Amino acid sequence: MNMIFERKLAIPMEVKEMYPLTGTMSQVVEQRIAELKAIFEGRSDRFILVIGPCSADNENSVMDYMHRLKNLAEQVKDRIFVVPRIYTNKPRTTGDGYKGMLHQPNPEEKPDMFKGIIAIRKLHMRLVQETGMAAADEMLYPENHKYLDDLLGYVAVGARSVEDQQHRLTASGIEVPVGMKNPTSGDFQVMLNAIQAAQHPHTFIYRGWETHSQGNPYAHAILRGSTNKHGQSQPNYHYEDLMLIHDFYAERDLANPAVVVDVNHANSGKQYIEQIRIAKEVLHSRRYNESLRKLVKGLMIESYLEDGCQKPGGGVYGQSITDPCLGWEKTEKLVLDIAETL
Ligand code: PEP
Ligand code: MN
Repeated sequence: MNMIFERKLAIPMEVKEMYPLTGTMSQVVEQRIAELKAIFEGRSDRFILVIGPCSADNENSVMDYMHRLKNLAEQVKDRIFVVPRIYTNKPRTTGDGYKGMLHQPNPEEKPDMFKGIIAIRKLHMRLVQETGMAAADEMLYPENHKYLDDLLGYVAVGARSVEDQQHRLTASGIEVPVGMKNPTSGDFQVMLNAIQAAQHPHTFIYRGWETHSQGNPYAHAILRGSTNKHGQSQPNYHYEDLMLIHDFYAERDLANPAVVVDVNHANSGKQYIEQIRIAKEVLHSRRYNESLRKLVKGLMIESYLEDGCQKPGGGVYGQSITDPCLGWEKTEKLVLDIAETL
């Protein structure tokens, strides 16, 4: 192989022994997962907001954001269930660029995968300990999921991964709700196939083990828009798109039909400010149609301390170094508005 095997890394069990959860932390995570499952099962009608930076690039600014988010979540908790986004590994369109805290705990230094594993575990642990919330992260590398599986409250499978069998089979063995994004091509059936695969039990190889997954009845859809052959963004958050996914869901025998609308990415064409308008349109569609009110259970919003984005090393505290995000002031107003209009 054309690869240098640098060093053998600690396995998840060893990393968990080095950085174990306290009993209280495990209880927090369990409680958060139970609350979220109640929403997916329709036993609670709170609205889900998966919200936070595109990438968790810096422990200080991310935790600063998370403390503000905790206070905001507290104010709206009767109507909204907040799932913070702590995305520690980033898929890159061409493979180049910042691949997330897992690869580069310091975005300005060269990759160090061991430090990365520790850094992402510590960050997720701080969130649980200091805010009483459990985060969402993207499962970009299925074999790495076990480094964090005792800490996460929500898992997303990204648009570039959703067609991949190992992602689907691993999702079928995950305890927490897993959101399957539509692929970048936009095909709803690909996403629904992924949900179906994740909801069923499978036998496969995972981390060198022959394993049997039990199926995940909380696998659901995330609409993030698509890109056409001209490279143009095609939104899929409009009323007609939501009705289409509603009808496609009705054709399949899937547990807990649910849609989360990602209001950034190809839905906003990465015009981060549009997230506000898109969120409000989705809420309007829900109010207009009772079936959509049941089906559309939440939004995914990319938000950080400062508006927009910068290049890695740009030096602006709390501004995204990947996708452009909504800054804190606008985020706070949007979340309060959402709570008001639900
Ligand atoms: C993201 O959520 O930041 C992301 C990379 O999403 P997608 O897989 O939809 O591009
Ligand atoms: Mn993003």
